[in-house]
Amino acid sequence: MRIYLSRPDISERDIEAVCEVLRSPDLSLGPKLVEFERAVAEYIGTKHAVAVNSGTSGLFLCMLALGIGPGDEVITTPFTFIATANCIMMVGAKPVFVDIDPVTLNIDPAKIESKITDKTKAIVPVEVFGNPAGFDKICQIAEKHNLTVIEDSCEALGSELNGRKAGTFGKMSTFAFYPNKQITTGEGGMILTDDDDLADMCISLRNQGRGKNAAWLSHERLGYNFRLSDINCALGIAQLSRIDEFKAKRKQVANWYQQMLADDNRLIVPAEADNCDVSWFVFVVRLARSFNRAQRDDVLQKMLADGIQVGNYFSPVHLQPFIADALGCEPADFPVTQAVSERTIALPFYNNLTKDDVAVVCSVLTSALDNL
Ligand SMILES: *Cc1c(COP(=O)(O)O)cnc(C)c1O
Repeated sequence: MRIYLSRPDISERDIEAVCEVLRSPDLSLGPKLVEFERAVAEYIGTKHAVAVNSGTSGLFLCMLALGIGPGDEVITTPFTFIATANCIMMVGAKPVFVDIDPVTLNIDPAKIESKITDKTKAIVPVEVFGNPAGFDKICQIAEKHNLTVIEDSCEALGSELNGRKAGTFGKMSTFAFYPNKQITTGEGGMILTDDDDLADMCISLRNQGRGKNAAWLSHERLGYNFRLSDINCALGIAQLSRIDEFKAKRKQVANWYQQMLADDNRLIVPAEADNCDVSWFVFVVRLARSFNRAQRDDVLQKMLADGIQVGNYFSPVHLQPFIADALGCEPADFPVTQAVSERTIALPFYNNLTKDDVAVVCSVLTSALDNL
Protein backbone atom coordinates (compact mmCIF):
# COMPACT_ATOMS: atom_id res chain seq x y z
CA MET A 1 0.00 0.00 0.00
CA ARG A 2 1.24 3.49 -0.82
CA ILE A 3 -1.38 5.27 1.26
CA TYR A 4 -3.37 3.62 4.04
CA LEU A 5 -7.03 4.15 4.81
CA SER A 6 -6.34 4.92 8.46
CA ARG A 7 -3.34 5.27 10.80
CA PRO A 8 -3.31 5.99 14.53
CA ASP A 9 -1.32 9.01 15.75
CA ILE A 10 0.81 7.74 18.65
CA SER A 11 3.45 10.08 20.10
CA GLU A 12 6.47 9.28 22.26
CA ARG A 13 4.56 10.87 25.15
CA ASP A 14 1.67 8.46 24.56
CA ILE A 15 4.11 5.54 24.69
CA GLU A 16 5.71 6.91 27.85
CA ALA A 17 2.27 7.23 29.50
CA VAL A 18 1.60 3.55 28.82
CA CYS A 19 5.05 2.51 30.08
CA GLU A 20 4.48 4.44 33.30
CA VAL A 21 1.44 2.28 34.07
CA LEU A 22 3.45 -0.85 33.30
CA ARG A 23 6.01 0.23 35.90
CA SER A 24 3.22 0.61 38.49
CA PRO A 25 1.24 -2.10 40.30
CA ASP A 26 -2.12 -0.70 39.10
CA LEU A 27 -2.81 -2.31 35.74
CA SER A 28 -6.58 -2.34 36.16
CA LEU A 29 -9.19 -0.48 38.25
CA GLY A 30 -6.43 1.96 39.18
CA PRO A 31 -6.00 5.75 39.10
CA LYS A 32 -5.76 6.01 35.28
CA LEU A 33 -9.29 4.62 34.93
CA VAL A 34 -10.71 7.35 37.17
CA GLU A 35 -8.59 10.02 35.46
CA PHE A 36 -9.63 8.97 31.94
CA GLU A 37 -13.31 8.88 32.89
CA ARG A 38 -13.08 12.35 34.49
CA ALA A 39 -11.23 13.75 31.47
CA VAL A 40 -13.82 12.48 28.96
CA ALA A 41 -16.78 13.60 31.12
CA GLU A 42 -15.22 17.04 31.44
CA TYR A 43 -14.44 17.33 27.74
CA ILE A 44 -17.97 16.34 26.69
CA GLY A 45 -19.72 18.05 29.58
CA THR A 46 -21.63 15.18 31.16
CA LYS A 47 -21.82 14.28 34.83
CA HIS A 48 -20.62 10.69 34.44
CA ALA A 49 -18.34 8.68 32.19
CA VAL A 50 -17.91 4.92 32.52
CA ALA A 51 -15.02 3.31 30.63
CA VAL A 52 -15.54 -0.08 29.00
CA ASN A 53 -13.48 -2.36 26.78
CA SER A 54 -15.10 -1.32 23.46
CA GLY A 55 -17.71 0.94 21.97
CA THR A 56 -19.83 -2.13 21.29
CA SER A 57 -19.68 -3.13 24.97
CA GLY A 58 -20.70 0.42 25.87
CA LEU A 59 -23.80 0.31 23.67
CA PHE A 60 -24.69 -3.13 25.02
CA LEU A 61 -24.46 -1.87 28.63
CA CYS A 62 -26.68 1.12 27.75
CA MET A 63 -29.34 -1.35 26.56
CA LEU A 64 -29.02 -3.47 29.71
CA ALA A 65 -28.98 -0.49 32.09
CA LEU A 66 -32.16 0.87 30.50
CA GLY A 67 -33.84 -2.51 30.81
CA ILE A 68 -34.40 -2.97 27.07
CA GLY A 69 -35.05 -6.60 26.18
CA PRO A 70 -37.31 -9.17 24.52
CA GLY A 71 -40.58 -7.71 23.21
CA ASP A 72 -39.11 -4.22 22.86
CA GLU A 73 -38.49 -2.40 19.59
CA VAL A 74 -35.61 0.01 19.09
CA ILE A 75 -35.51 2.40 16.15
CA THR A 76 -32.17 2.85 14.42
CA THR A 77 -30.46 3.39 11.08
CA PRO A 78 -29.41 0.71 8.59
CA PHE A 79 -26.54 2.94 7.40
CA THR A 80 -24.08 2.36 10.24
CA PHE A 81 -21.51 -0.02 11.64
CA ILE A 82 -22.97 -3.38 12.68
CA ALA A 83 -22.50 -2.71 16.42
CA THR A 84 -25.42 -0.25 16.42
CA ALA A 85 -27.85 -3.06 15.59
CA ASN A 86 -25.99 -5.86 17.38
CA CYS A 87 -26.39 -4.23 20.79
CA ILE A 88 -30.17 -4.20 20.24
CA MET A 89 -30.27 -7.84 19.14
CA MET A 90 -27.88 -8.97 21.89
CA VAL A 91 -30.45 -8.01 24.54
CA GLY A 92 -33.23 -9.77 22.60
CA ALA A 93 -34.95 -6.60 21.36
CA LYS A 94 -35.89 -5.93 17.74
CA PRO A 95 -34.11 -3.30 15.64
CA VAL A 96 -36.59 -1.31 13.56
CA PHE A 97 -34.74 0.42 10.75
CA VAL A 98 -35.59 3.87 9.41
CA ASP A 99 -34.10 5.15 6.16
CA ILE A 100 -31.52 7.96 6.12
CA ASP A 101 -31.52 11.56 5.00
CA PRO A 102 -29.70 11.77 1.64
CA VAL A 103 -27.68 14.83 2.67
CA THR A 104 -26.72 14.20 6.31
CA LEU A 105 -26.66 10.38 5.90
CA ASN A 106 -28.08 10.20 9.44
CA ILE A 107 -31.43 8.63 10.32
CA ASP A 108 -34.15 10.73 8.62
CA PRO A 109 -36.14 12.52 11.35
CA ALA A 110 -39.14 12.82 9.01
CA LYS A 111 -39.38 9.02 8.69
CA ILE A 112 -39.14 8.08 12.37
CA GLU A 113 -42.72 8.69 13.54
CA SER A 114 -44.35 6.21 11.15
CA LYS A 115 -42.18 3.42 12.67
CA ILE A 116 -43.15 4.09 16.29
CA THR A 117 -45.41 1.43 17.85
CA ASP A 118 -46.50 0.72 21.43
CA LYS A 119 -43.46 -1.57 21.66
CA THR A 120 -40.95 1.15 20.78
CA LYS A 121 -38.68 1.88 23.75
CA ALA A 122 -35.76 3.81 22.34
CA ILE A 123 -34.05 5.41 19.36
CA VAL A 124 -30.37 4.79 18.61
CA PRO A 125 -29.17 7.51 16.24
CA VAL A 126 -25.60 7.63 14.91
CA GLU A 127 -23.53 10.68 13.93
CA VAL A 128 -22.47 9.00 10.71
CA PHE A 129 -18.82 9.73 9.80
CA GLY A 130 -18.81 12.28 12.66
CA ASN A 131 -21.63 14.51 11.36
CA PRO A 132 -24.20 15.52 14.03
CA ALA A 133 -26.63 17.17 11.54
CA GLY A 134 -30.29 16.55 12.36
CA PHE A 135 -29.76 15.45 15.96
CA ASP A 136 -31.84 18.33 17.31
CA LYS A 137 -34.84 17.10 15.29
CA ILE A 138 -34.29 13.48 16.30
CA CYS A 139 -34.31 14.48 19.99
CA GLN A 140 -37.51 16.50 19.52
CA ILE A 141 -39.32 13.49 18.07
CA ALA A 142 -38.03 11.22 20.85
CA GLU A 143 -39.19 13.67 23.49
CA LYS A 144 -42.64 14.03 21.90
CA HIS A 145 -43.12 10.25 22.01
CA ASN A 146 -41.43 9.67 25.35
CA LEU A 147 -38.69 7.53 23.84
CA THR A 148 -35.19 7.21 25.28
CA VAL A 149 -32.35 8.30 23.03
CA ILE A 150 -29.25 6.11 23.22
CA GLU A 151 -26.73 8.04 21.19
CA ASP A 152 -24.20 5.98 19.26
CA SER A 153 -21.65 8.80 19.18
CA CYS A 154 -18.81 6.36 18.46
CA GLU A 155 -17.83 8.26 15.31
CA ALA A 156 -18.21 11.80 16.64
CA LEU A 157 -15.80 12.59 19.47
CA GLY A 158 -15.47 16.39 19.38
CA SER A 159 -18.32 17.14 16.94
CA GLU A 160 -20.86 19.85 17.75
CA LEU A 161 -24.31 20.89 16.56
CA ASN A 162 -25.35 24.45 17.45
CA GLY A 163 -22.53 24.48 20.00
CA ARG A 164 -23.78 21.29 21.65
CA LYS A 165 -21.34 18.36 21.74
CA ALA A 166 -22.04 14.91 20.33
CA GLY A 167 -22.45 12.63 23.32
CA THR A 168 -24.89 14.98 25.07
CA PHE A 169 -27.95 14.32 22.89
CA GLY A 170 -28.86 10.95 24.39
CA LYS A 171 -30.01 9.94 27.86
CA MET A 172 -26.94 7.76 27.45
CA SER A 173 -24.24 7.88 24.78
CA THR A 174 -21.17 5.88 23.83
CA PHE A 175 -17.78 6.72 22.34
CA ALA A 176 -15.32 4.22 20.88
CA PHE A 177 -11.53 4.21 20.82
CA TYR A 178 -10.62 1.60 18.21
CA PRO A 179 -7.43 2.63 16.31
CA ASN A 180 -9.30 4.28 13.41
CA LYS A 181 -11.34 6.61 15.69
CA GLN A 182 -10.43 10.23 16.48
CA ILE A 183 -8.56 9.05 19.59
CA THR A 184 -7.55 5.48 20.38
CA THR A 185 -6.89 3.26 23.38
CA GLY A 186 -6.20 0.23 21.15
CA GLU A 187 -9.59 -1.14 22.11
CA GLY A 188 -11.95 0.78 24.36
CA GLY A 189 -15.16 2.70 24.82
CA MET A 190 -16.86 5.18 27.12
CA ILE A 191 -20.47 5.48 28.26
CA LEU A 192 -21.67 8.99 29.11
CA THR A 193 -24.75 10.04 31.05
CA ASP A 194 -25.98 12.67 33.50
CA ASP A 195 -28.08 10.06 35.31
CA ASP A 196 -26.56 8.83 38.61
CA ASP A 197 -28.48 5.52 38.69
CA LEU A 198 -27.70 4.60 35.08
CA ALA A 199 -24.01 5.36 35.65
CA ASP A 200 -23.96 3.20 38.80
CA MET A 201 -25.71 0.40 36.93
CA CYS A 202 -23.11 0.50 34.13
CA ILE A 203 -20.26 0.48 36.68
CA SER A 204 -21.78 -2.61 38.27
CA LEU A 205 -22.61 -4.39 35.00
CA ARG A 206 -19.09 -3.90 33.57
CA ASN A 207 -17.58 -5.42 36.71
CA GLN A 208 -19.36 -8.77 37.28
CA GLY A 209 -22.45 -7.20 38.82
CA ARG A 210 -20.59 -5.99 41.89
CA GLY A 211 -22.41 -3.42 43.99
CA LYS A 212 -21.06 -0.01 44.85
CA ASN A 213 -18.43 -0.32 47.62
CA ALA A 214 -19.30 -4.02 47.96
CA ALA A 215 -16.72 -6.70 48.80
CA TRP A 216 -14.79 -8.14 45.82
CA LEU A 217 -16.67 -11.46 45.87
CA SER A 218 -20.08 -10.02 46.53
CA HIS A 219 -22.23 -9.88 43.38
CA GLU A 220 -25.61 -8.16 43.43
CA ARG A 221 -26.75 -8.88 39.89
CA LEU A 222 -25.83 -10.63 36.69
CA GLY A 223 -22.87 -8.82 35.23
CA TYR A 224 -19.85 -9.54 33.09
CA ASN A 225 -16.29 -8.30 32.54
CA PHE A 226 -16.30 -5.24 30.29
CA ARG A 227 -13.51 -3.41 32.15
CA LEU A 228 -10.91 -1.24 30.43
CA SER A 229 -7.36 -1.63 31.80
CA ASP A 230 -5.31 1.27 33.17
CA ILE A 231 -2.83 0.60 30.35
CA ASN A 232 -5.54 1.53 27.83
CA CYS A 233 -6.77 4.41 29.99
CA ALA A 234 -3.29 5.98 30.18
CA LEU A 235 -3.16 5.99 26.37
CA GLY A 236 -6.65 7.49 26.30
CA ILE A 237 -5.69 10.34 28.65
CA ALA A 238 -2.61 11.17 26.57
CA GLN A 239 -4.61 11.00 23.32
CA LEU A 240 -7.51 13.09 24.64
CA SER A 241 -5.09 15.84 25.69
CA ARG A 242 -4.39 16.29 21.96
CA ILE A 243 -8.02 16.18 20.75
CA ASP A 244 -8.08 19.84 19.62
CA GLU A 245 -4.93 19.30 17.56
CA PHE A 246 -6.34 16.02 16.13
CA LYS A 247 -9.62 17.68 15.21
CA ALA A 248 -7.82 20.57 13.48
CA LYS A 249 -5.54 18.23 11.53
CA ARG A 250 -8.50 16.15 10.36
CA LYS A 251 -10.41 19.27 9.36
CA GLN A 252 -7.39 20.35 7.31
CA VAL A 253 -7.26 16.99 5.50
CA ALA A 254 -11.02 17.17 4.86
CA ASN A 255 -10.58 20.72 3.48
CA TRP A 256 -7.82 19.59 1.09
CA TYR A 257 -10.10 16.84 -0.25
CA GLN A 258 -13.01 19.29 -0.52
CA GLN A 259 -10.89 21.80 -2.46
CA MET A 260 -9.24 19.29 -4.78
CA LEU A 261 -12.47 17.44 -5.61
CA ALA A 262 -14.84 20.43 -5.67
CA ASP A 263 -15.06 20.76 -9.45
CA ASP A 264 -15.65 17.09 -10.24
CA ASN A 265 -19.39 16.72 -10.79
CA ARG A 266 -19.06 12.93 -10.95
CA LEU A 267 -18.60 13.03 -7.17
CA ILE A 268 -20.64 14.06 -4.15
CA VAL A 269 -18.17 15.41 -1.59
CA PRO A 270 -19.23 15.70 2.08
CA ALA A 271 -19.57 19.19 3.51
CA GLU A 272 -20.08 20.66 6.95
CA ALA A 273 -23.47 22.29 7.59
CA ASP A 274 -23.40 25.90 8.92
CA ASN A 275 -24.64 24.90 12.37
CA CYS A 276 -22.20 21.96 12.69
CA ASP A 277 -18.59 21.72 13.76
CA VAL A 278 -17.62 18.28 12.48
CA SER A 279 -14.84 16.28 14.09
CA TRP A 280 -14.23 14.15 11.01
CA PHE A 281 -14.07 10.38 11.59
CA VAL A 282 -13.63 9.27 7.98
CA PHE A 283 -13.91 11.03 4.64
CA VAL A 284 -16.40 9.30 2.37
CA VAL A 285 -17.22 10.60 -1.11
CA ARG A 286 -19.96 9.20 -3.32
CA LEU A 287 -20.38 8.70 -7.03
CA ALA A 288 -23.21 10.72 -8.57
CA ARG A 289 -26.57 8.98 -9.10
CA SER A 290 -25.80 8.36 -12.80
CA PHE A 291 -23.22 5.73 -11.75
CA ASN A 292 -23.98 2.24 -10.45
CA ARG A 293 -22.53 -0.16 -7.92
CA ALA A 294 -20.41 -2.04 -10.49
CA GLN A 295 -18.75 1.23 -11.48
CA ARG A 296 -18.11 2.11 -7.83
CA ASP A 297 -16.59 -1.33 -7.24
CA ASP A 298 -14.45 -0.78 -10.32
CA VAL A 299 -13.15 2.51 -8.88
CA LEU A 300 -12.37 0.78 -5.56
CA GLN A 301 -10.47 -1.98 -7.38
CA LYS A 302 -8.47 0.45 -9.51
CA MET A 303 -7.50 2.55 -6.50
CA LEU A 304 -6.49 -0.52 -4.48
CA ALA A 305 -4.42 -1.75 -7.43
CA ASP A 306 -2.69 1.64 -7.42
CA GLY A 307 -1.78 1.29 -3.74
CA ILE A 308 -4.50 3.55 -2.36
CA GLN A 309 -6.41 1.85 0.44
CA VAL A 310 -10.12 2.65 0.12
CA GLY A 311 -13.33 1.20 1.57
CA ASN A 312 -17.04 0.85 0.90
CA TYR A 313 -18.37 2.37 4.16
CA PHE A 314 -21.07 1.27 4.96
CA SER A 315 -22.42 -1.96 3.64
CA PRO A 316 -26.03 -1.64 4.93
CA VAL A 317 -26.76 -3.36 8.22
CA HIS A 318 -30.22 -4.63 7.17
CA LEU A 319 -28.60 -6.67 4.38
CA GLN A 320 -26.08 -8.49 6.56
CA PRO A 321 -27.26 -12.09 6.11
CA PHE A 322 -28.09 -12.87 9.75
CA ILE A 323 -30.11 -9.66 10.12
CA ALA A 324 -31.86 -9.98 6.75
CA ASP A 325 -32.82 -13.55 7.75
CA ALA A 326 -33.99 -12.61 11.25
CA LEU A 327 -36.01 -9.56 10.20
CA GLY A 328 -36.91 -10.40 6.60
CA CYS A 329 -35.23 -7.30 5.12
CA GLU A 330 -34.90 -6.63 1.38
CA PRO A 331 -32.47 -4.26 -0.38
CA ALA A 332 -35.34 -2.06 -1.57
CA ASP A 333 -36.72 -1.54 1.97
CA PHE A 334 -34.52 1.55 2.44
CA PRO A 335 -34.01 3.16 -0.96
CA VAL A 336 -31.85 6.07 0.23
CA THR A 337 -29.55 3.78 2.20
CA GLN A 338 -29.32 1.50 -0.80
CA ALA A 339 -28.59 4.28 -3.28
CA VAL A 340 -25.96 5.84 -1.00
CA SER A 341 -24.23 2.65 0.10
CA GLU A 342 -23.81 1.44 -3.49
CA ARG A 343 -21.82 4.54 -4.38
CA THR A 344 -19.58 5.29 -1.41
CA ILE A 345 -15.80 5.47 -1.54
CA ALA A 346 -14.08 5.96 1.83
CA LEU A 347 -10.77 7.72 1.07
CA PRO A 348 -7.57 7.52 3.12
CA PHE A 349 -8.08 9.73 6.16
CA TYR A 350 -5.96 10.30 9.25
CA ASN A 351 -4.23 13.07 11.19
CA ASN A 352 -0.87 13.01 9.47
CA LEU A 353 -1.95 12.58 5.87
CA THR A 354 -0.05 15.28 3.92
CA LYS A 355 -1.34 17.60 1.23
CA ASP A 356 0.83 15.67 -1.25
CA ASP A 357 -0.79 12.38 -0.14
CA VAL A 358 -4.23 13.89 -0.63
CA ALA A 359 -3.20 15.11 -4.11
CA VAL A 360 -2.04 11.58 -5.02
CA VAL A 361 -5.33 10.06 -3.78
CA CYS A 362 -7.35 12.62 -5.75
CA SER A 363 -5.38 12.06 -8.95
CA VAL A 364 -5.73 8.26 -8.71
CA LEU A 365 -9.45 8.69 -8.01
CA THR A 366 -9.84 11.05 -10.97
CA SER A 367 -8.09 8.73 -13.40
CA ALA A 368 -10.16 5.77 -12.13
CA LEU A 369 -13.27 7.83 -12.88
CA ASP A 370 -11.90 8.83 -16.32
CA ASN A 371 -11.47 5.15 -17.14
CA LEU A 372 -15.06 4.15 -16.34
C1 LIG B 1 -16.65 2.22 15.96
C2 LIG B 1 -18.11 2.14 16.13
C3 LIG B 1 -18.71 1.44 17.20
C4 LIG B 1 -17.95 0.69 18.25
O1 LIG B 1 -16.88 -0.02 17.78
P1 LIG B 1 -15.89 -0.85 18.73
O2 LIG B 1 -14.97 -1.45 17.70
O3 LIG B 1 -16.68 -1.86 19.46
O4 LIG B 1 -15.20 0.07 19.64
C5 LIG B 1 -20.08 1.49 17.31
N1 LIG B 1 -20.85 2.17 16.43
C6 LIG B 1 -20.31 2.84 15.40
C7 LIG B 1 -21.23 3.60 14.49
C8 LIG B 1 -18.93 2.84 15.19
O5 LIG B 1 -18.42 3.50 14.15
